[in-house]
Amino acid sequence: MVSKIKGVLLVVSGPAGVGKGTVCDIAAKSGPDIHLSISATSRAPRKNEVEGVHYFFKTKSQFEKMIANDELLEYNEFVNGSYYGTPIKECMRHLAKGESVILEIDIEGGMQVKAKYPDTVMVFVVPPSYCELEKRLRGRGSETEQDIVSRLLHAKKELEYAKEYDYIIVNDVPETAAAKLLAIIQAEKLRASRVLK
Ligand code: 5GP
Repeated sequence: MVSKIKGVLLVVSGPAGVGKGTVCDIAAKSGPDIHLSISATSRAPRKNEVEGVHYFFKTKSQFEKMIANDELLEYNEFVNGSYYGTPIKECMRHLAKGESVILEIDIEGGMQVKAKYPDTVMVFVVPPSYCELEKRLRGRGSETEQDIVSRLLHAKKELEYAKEYDYIIVNDVPETAAAKLLAIIQAEKLRASRVLK
């Protein structure tokens, strides 16, 4: 399976609400050689979510069948009991064509992919407020010290995971963040170990 990979496989993770979906969408729309993987999930569709566009919606037992049949590159069961996973076949089909494939998945799933395919490029998206957080919290002078410390600790905990990633993108303006993601893909395509493979 590994030898079939010609394109760049990217994992994009980050805290909820950071806007990583928008960033990935913009990047994927920039050209035909970038494919945004569509995950399978056992969570219920939200209003305006379309089958096969946002997710492949499965029942729990359908999803568990996919796990048993080895149809997933990675998967995770979230605290709310819903499964999320990456269908392996589509992903490999696009990679084999030389396309870059973006997996917008959580940290645990990302680590599973990296363990299976060490060439995976790991990108972590953070909100600009992470960098500004301490300055802003202290600057406005309205938070108690305890509040500041607990907020910073939470941010730090999330940033701990960021250390496991290869690149960090601050999502200030989504278009700018998407351009950075595309720049990473361009650079990774030129990596000697890939070119000479
Ligand atoms: P939501 O339910 O808001 O669409 O997604 C919740 C979380 O699931 C997001 O943080 C997203 O990154 C993660 N996620 C979406 N698809 C997958 C997947 O295929 N695998 C894993 N491990 N996480 C996923």
